Amino acid sequence: MKHLLLFLLVGSLWGCSNNFHSQQERWSAHSPGAEEFAGYGEFEAQIAELKIKTAHQEIDSKTVIRTQQKVAGFSVEGTWFQEVSSEESGIESYSYQLVEGIPESVIHSAHEIYENREALIEVVRGSHKVLKNSPKIEKVEVVLEADELSPKAWLKVSFVAPDEQSIVHFYINAAGRVKRTRSWRHNFTDGVGFVYDSSPEESDLSEQMLKNLVGDGKLASKHLSVESVIQPTPVSEDNIFKISTSEREFDLLQSYFFVDQMISWFQEELNVSLGYSLNIKVHIGGEKPTNAAFFYAGNIRLGEGDGKVYQKIPRDPSIVSHEASHAYVEKLSGLGFDGEAGSYSEAFSDFFTAARLGRTDMGYFSYMRAPYKRNIDNDMRASKDLRGKKYNDSLVISSTFWELKKLLGTKKATQLAKAFLIELGPGGKIKDLPEVLTSVTRAQLPSEDHHVVESVLEQKGWRSL
Ligand SMILES: [Zn+2]
Repeated sequence: MKHLLLFLLVGSLWGCSNNFHSQQERWSAHSPGAEEFAGYGEFEAQIAELKIKTAHQEIDSKTVIRTQQKVAGFSVEGTWFQEVSSEESGIESYSYQLVEGIPESVIHSAHEIYENREALIEVVRGSHKVLKNSPKIEKVEVVLEADELSPKAWLKVSFVAPDEQSIVHFYINAAGRVKRTRSWRHNFTDGVGFVYDSSPEESDLSEQMLKNLVGDGKLASKHLSVESVIQPTPVSEDNIFKISTSEREFDLLQSYFFVDQMISWFQEELNVSLGYSLNIKVHIGGEKPTNAAFFYAGNIRLGEGDGKVYQKIPRDPSIVSHEASHAYVEKLSGLGFDGEAGSYSEAFSDFFTAARLGRTDMGYFSYMRAPYKRNIDNDMRASKDLRGKKYNDSLVISSTFWELKKLLGTKKATQLAKAFLIELGPGGKIKDLPEVLTSVTRAQLPSEDHHVVESVLEQKGWRSL
């Protein structure tokens, strides 16, 4: 009987010409026992092609190749490839999740969907009010989905929801039906908070702290611009901005100042710059103030707070710094905002903010229902507190790094966080944390510090996952 089953199994695999499968790998030169470059396994040929097609970027004198797999020109969702190398030591780490054997019929369907994309969007506009009323479609692309047993092709349409409080992705099939909606609301309501030494009113934003203004009198620099839904951007001929704190216009100045400080901090402490300009948009919701606070594609959007759950959001240094930090976490890691990647993204935006502000209680100024929204100085343990929830799990990660900060000091801990994010890459899973942290510890810290990191991994429950 056993033989018959085996025969049937082998026979069915043999008969299947589209042997669809996916594989995930992670390797680092600094992992225990990984002395030699282990190679790329069975996807070597595909990776060679990805490397040719992909633009390299420099982070911290390392060359990072980071990309998503494409098949027949279509991005495959859920896949990634990353390789980090340096001139001195060659390949330092790589990680990937790639697929093979997407059936021809799916590729064919992807081409058809691409040809019909305009018509399909029209159909959906007719059936979905939200798309009809949406101010602007940000992106239209055909994607392949391959994280399930049967790969599929979708028209993926991304847009900012009409209330400007969330990003929505529609996955549309060849018949013009929306089969799935993904949306993330990057609200401070679920979010983060950070701290400045004194409250915004006390700190009385002084004009000398606005660095590198473009000089035409507008509140803007090469790295940063600010605008409001209801107010013009402040202008001052002599570049001295004094605005009464009772004015809404003051929100632009205050939020500009906080983000400017964060940009300088990343440059000075971690030698990281974005390479593009951030834009802040405040007063989301206009005359109906909202609790919006999120980052997307270089844009920080902030409501004023509804006065019930949040107040004066653009004046909370922890919230504003958190949103700015997202840009840097994205730059360093390539991590997205959903699922486990989202937990990392929140955790490190919190961690950098706390390190910069010297406070761990996020939302301490704006959040009205408690002294703060969340605190990254906590006793949560990976072994018992991971729940598969974005903001909950982020606290396990951020508190682990905060513990490292307490024991190693700000400089070493933030450098370690930076190296961690680079090596982790876009497809990082929460369970990868101990391995990646051990690897970057060996690469970054003197050997007398290694046991400190190990003890934190123990203490925070990562060694008994
Ligand atoms: Zn966030």
